[in-house]
Amino acid sequence: MLQLMRPVEMLGASFREILQAAANLERMMALAREAPEPDVSPAAPGGAARLLPGCRLEVEKVSFSYGDGAPVVDDVSFTAEPGRVLALVGPSGAGKSSLLRLLLRFYMPQRGDIRLGGQSIGALGLKQLRQAVAVVPQDIVLFDDTIAFNIALARPGASHDEIEAAARAAGVHERIAAMPDGYATIVGERGLKLSGGERQRLSIARALVKRPRLLVLDEATSSLDAVTEKIVRRSLMAGAAERTTLVVAHNLAMAAGADEILVMAKGRIVERGSHRDLIRRKGLYARLWREQMQSGDEKA
Ligand code: ADP
Ligand code: MG
Repeated sequence: MLQLMRPVEMLGASFREILQAAANLERMMALAREAPEPDVSPAAPGGAARLLPGCRLEVEKVSFSYGDGAPVVDDVSFTAEPGRVLALVGPSGAGKSSLLRLLLRFYMPQRGDIRLGGQSIGALGLKQLRQAVAVVPQDIVLFDDTIAFNIALARPGASHDEIEAAARAAGVHERIAAMPDGYATIVGERGLKLSGGERQRLSIARALVKRPRLLVLDEATSSLDAVTEKIVRRSLMAGAAERTTLVVAHNLAMAAGADEILVMAKGRIVERGSHRDLIRRKGLYARLWREQMQSGDEKA
């Protein structure tokens, strides 16, 4: 019975995720279509604040609810230091994706403040915020064009060396080099089809080529193969010095290597610390970890 139910549950989860991803994407596309905001011009009096150097992310006493509903993010505070990787974990419905949407300013919190490099993101032009933050979505949208084009999408005008460096960091350079036309290989619907793991790595390369101050990854619920997972984890942790990285991790193995893990439940951060700390605490994280280990055993 358990075995029968599991695929159905998975189907439900992935369908929800697909809908969510589509909704997020629409949002992003709408943002991307917007004309450059007039208020980002430095000459504009009373215009948007400039983004100062630095990539410390500070979330201070942030609360948010959709419409008149109950808060889905409830008095959340944390600081992500440059060069560190923060993981956000917790049961479905805990508010993880909602918190990400606040960081990307799809919504404004009703209370509290979010600062990037010491600057409140509410005061920034959306264009500046978009340039400073890269999101690795749960699935990459590939255009019927070359691999190089698809990576450089986040920063048109990136040089070949920059594209290749991003691909190397994302652990996908060797695979690209082995393709018929290397970086000039056409991918996408009518081109070369890529595996899920390859798509995920390309997605990371696309984010890295942007040299973001804040890198946000909303990890797919569907589990990656072990090799890809390792590469993804390594590429996220490596070379992270000049950015702050926030990973929403469904797979706790992804969270385990983070510098700090924030455990969310019902909109609140209920536990925080390193993997070791949290296992020792024998709380929610320890329980989720145990459950995932057990289900991993069953699958094997
Ligand atoms: P998680 O990512 O941790 O699974 P979410 O942030 O997606 O959690 O959801 C937190 C809560 O907010 C849930 O109760 C969910 O039903 C609700 N929610 C999510 N998105 C919306 C939305 N667009 N409108 C109203 N409620 C939402
Ligand atoms: Mg979510």
